[in-house]
Amino acid sequence: MIATVKGTRDILPPESFVWNRVEAVAREVFHSFGYGEIRTPLMEPTELFTRGIGEDTDIVNKEMYTFPDKKGRSLTLRPEGTAPVARAYISNNMQTLPHPLRLYYIGPMFRYERPQKGRYRQFFQIGAEILGPEEPAADVEMFSLLVDFLNRLEFTDLAVGLNSVGCEACRPGYRAALQAVLQEHKGELCVDCVRRIDTNPLRVLDCKEAGCQPVKKLLPSIGGHLCETCSAHLRFVEEGLNALKIRFELNDRLVRGLDYYTRTVFEVVSGRLGAQNAICGGGRYDRLISDLGGPKVPGIGFAIGQDRLIEILPESFKAKVKPGLDYFIVPVSPNELLPAFELAAKLREQGRSAGVALDGKGLKKGLKFAAATGAVSALILGEEEIKNGEVVVKNLATGEQVKKKIDEL
Ligand code: AMP
Repeated sequence: MIATVKGTRDILPPESFVWNRVEAVAREVFHSFGYGEIRTPLMEPTELFTRGIGEDTDIVNKEMYTFPDKKGRSLTLRPEGTAPVARAYISNNMQTLPHPLRLYYIGPMFRYERPQKGRYRQFFQIGAEILGPEEPAADVEMFSLLVDFLNRLEFTDLAVGLNSVGCEACRPGYRAALQAVLQEHKGELCVDCVRRIDTNPLRVLDCKEAGCQPVKKLLPSIGGHLCETCSAHLRFVEEGLNALKIRFELNDRLVRGLDYYTRTVFEVVSGRLGAQNAICGGGRYDRLISDLGGPKVPGIGFAIGQDRLIEILPESFKAKVKPGLDYFIVPVSPNELLPAFELAAKLREQGRSAGVALDGKGLKKGLKFAAATGAVSALILGEEEIKNGEVVVKNLATGEQVKKKIDEL
């Protein structure tokens, strides 16, 4: 037997119906806010991620699926969606389009992580980006979009964490303040964090190693280091969220695993997931496009982990996803098989879903199939019914049977 690659899985019906429904709701909500879909390639030049995400991040250090193609060019399976969107913005000269530019994507991402519950090597993200505005109003729109989507999925128990990681003006001061404390406690840190003192001290705040936790408590928070512009930006976002009645918590320890973030960063967590409790991460990336060689265009976005989202999807939403057919037609003998096909085609034309028992093995077997498909009703079609333009409708949940004119279905 050939197994799936470690950390990957098949998503089968009926579960895939839930995935489809979630994606359909995402599209409806995104379209209702004026976002258009962008589909970028699953592979990109490796340099996009090393330059975009940042050299000393977990993704770039350890998690990328990188390989040479037959001509020796280094390619990487995309580990996230924002750097590809920024690349596409530049490659397609999108600065000539009307701004703000509102984009969304849905699709698989790849990271070589240690698989565990809620963590896969191929996982799916649903993300949105708004490109152009520097103003915090764009941040508020992002939250509004995100919360609208999660509300439509009937979530009631998610927590939003919000922080600012500053900008080019104020982050260097904060970095230096972190570095000063970290240097003093170098001996207590894990090897990764020792390296991060020089390369990326903010990432220490995100370290999960037990040994680093006491040092983390000693680190200054960014609040006191934000410049006036960053503070005002954060205040506007807070006021916006309050006005939209979006519940959130300021978390001045929140940093994100990707280097491109500036100012606003946020995440959404669920108490119903285990250690991997984040279902969404996002933030502002005012320098990403210009760092990749494009124009100076700011942006902000989020990415929801679809696998985790579906794991904790409220039952109330799932109950409404009906994978079964409206009708499953059972021809009583092979003579009624072709009329059954005709009837199925007619029903589908009218917007209903319909299937046909194909083997012509009669009523008993056909009804068994019908029940197994999860259909709502079986339509029994015999010689006499066809003669009278009728069909026997059997409700598969209650077993109740009534004869109906085909035209009345
Ligand atoms: P990130 O791109 O790291 O900000 O991640 C955004 C969201 O994607 C996270 O909050 C998770 O829900 C999801 N995610 C990230 N990595 C994985 C993974 N390996 N497996 C499943 N979901 C993931």
